[in-house]
Amino acid sequence: MGANTTSGVSFTTDEETRLILDSLDEFIEREVEPIVDDLGDVYTNPRKGRHENGRWTDDLLEAREEIRRKSAEAGFYAMNLPEDAGGDGISPVTWYRAKKHLASHGGGLERYVLAGPEGPKPLLLQAEGDQRDRYLEPTVRGEKSTAFGQTEPGYGSDSPNMETTAERDGDEWVIDGRKQWITNAPYADYVQLFARTTPQEEAGRYGGITCFIVERDEYELGSYNNAVGAEGTQAEIILNDVRIPDDRVLGEVDDAFYAAMDFLSLGRLELGAEAVGYSEYLLEKAGEYVNEREAFGKTIGNFQQVSAKLAEGRAKTYAADAAGLKLAWKVAQDERTIMDSSVFKWFATNVLWEVADAAVQVNGANGLAEESPYMDLVHQARILRIVEGTDEIQLNTIAKSMGIMD
Ligand SMILES: Cc1cc2nc3c(=O)[nH]c(=O)nc-3n(C[C@H](O)[C@H](O)[C@H](O)COP(=O)(O)OP(=O)(O)OC[C@H]3O[C@@H](n4cnc5c(N)ncnc54)[C@H](O)[C@@H]3O)c2cc1C
Repeated sequence: MGANTTSGVSFTTDEETRLILDSLDEFIEREVEPIVDDLGDVYTNPRKGRHENGRWTDDLLEAREEIRRKSAEAGFYAMNLPEDAGGDGISPVTWYRAKKHLASHGGGLERYVLAGPEGPKPLLLQAEGDQRDRYLEPTVRGEKSTAFGQTEPGYGSDSPNMETTAERDGDEWVIDGRKQWITNAPYADYVQLFARTTPQEEAGRYGGITCFIVERDEYELGSYNNAVGAEGTQAEIILNDVRIPDDRVLGEVDDAFYAAMDFLSLGRLELGAEAVGYSEYLLEKAGEYVNEREAFGKTIGNFQQVSAKLAEGRAKTYAADAAGLKLAWKVAQDERTIMDSSVFKWFATNVLWEVADAAVQVNGANGLAEESPYMDLVHQARILRIVEGTDEIQLNTIAKSMGIMD
C-alpha cells in the first residue's frame, strides 16, 4: 500500500467542524455568558438555585429554557438530527467534537446549548403523523422538553424486568407503575415512558416493552431524587391507572427496548464526549494553577508529584479522546459498536474521575472550595459512572464481547 492510502478515518478537525466549534464559542460568549453572569452561582450552588425539595427556582428554569431556545434558533441545539426532523444532519464525529468542545467550557448552564437528556433523542425520530407536530418538532426547536422514563425502584441495571405495565383497553392503554431517577421529570412537557405490554415469558427478556408518550399533567410527580451535583434534576414518576390513547405509542408495540438499544452507542458517545471535555477543562485550569501557586520557593508544577498527576491525566484524556473519535467514526459507518461504546463510556468516565480527583488535590484546600469548579466536576464524574449503564455493566459487556462471560 502506498503512503497516500487512506483508511477513511481522520483525526484532523475538518474545516466545517472547526467553523461549528468557533461559532459555538461565539454563541456562548454572546448569548449564554450574560445569562450565566446574571444568575451568579445559583446554578452551581444548590442552596441558592433550588427550593427545599430540590426543585429549580423559576429564574434558573427560565435561563435554561432561554439557552435552549436561542441555541435551536441559531441552529445548534439538535444539529445532529436529520434535516427532515429539523436538525442539520451533522455526522456523529462532528457531534462528538461539538459535545466535547462544549463540555471543555466547564459544564455549567452551557451544557444546555446542545440537546442532552431533556432534548430530542433518536428514539423520538420514531414519531409519526401528529406525534411529529406535537412532540418531535417543538422539542427540536427547544420549545418543549422531554424525559426518558425507564428506571424503577426495583430495577435499574436490570430494567427489562420492569414492573410498570400498560394494558390495552379499547383504543386506550392503562398504565400502572412507578419510575425513579428520571432526569427532567419535574419540568418535562412529556415523558417517553417504558412499560411492559407483553409478559416476559411470551415476549422474551428484551421483548414486550412499549414506549408511550405521557404528558406532564398525566403523571404524578413523586419525590425528587436529589443526587449530589444534580439537585432538582431527577424525580419519581407515579402512574395510577393512567389512560393514554393508542396514538401515543412511540414506535412499535412491544419493540421499545430493541429500539432503545439501537441508540445505546450514541448515548454513550455523548456521555463520554462530555467526560473528555470536562477532563480537558480541568487539566487546563489545574495547569494554570500549578504554574502560579508557589510553595517552598517554586511554582508547585515543579514538584514531580504534582506534575505527574496532571501529565498522567493528560495521557489518559488523550487516549479517551482517541477512543471517542474511533467510536464516533464507527457509528457514522453504521458499524456494530456495542463493545466500543462500553469501552469508551467506561474509560472516559473513569479518566474524568481520576482527573477531577487530581485537580482537587493539586489545588489544595482551594480545590475543595464551594465556589471553585472542581468538586462540582468530581460529582459529575461520579454521576457519569452510574448513568447509561454503570461501570460494572460496561465491563460485563466488554467481557461478553471477549467470550469470557455468558
Ligand atoms: C443523575 C442520574 C440521572 C438519571 N437519569 C435517568 C433517566 O433519565 N432515565 C432513567 O430511566 N434512569 C435514569 N437514571 C437511573 C440510572 O440509569 C440507574 O441508576 C442505573 O441504571 C443503575 O441502576 P440502579 O441505580 O438501580 O442500580 P442497580 O442496578 O441496583 O446496581 C447497583 C450496583 O450493582 C451493580 N450491578 C447490578 N447488576 C450487575 C451485574 N449484572 N453485574 C455486575 N454488577 C451489577 C451496579 O453496577 C451497581 O454498582 C439516572 C440516575 C442518576 C443518578
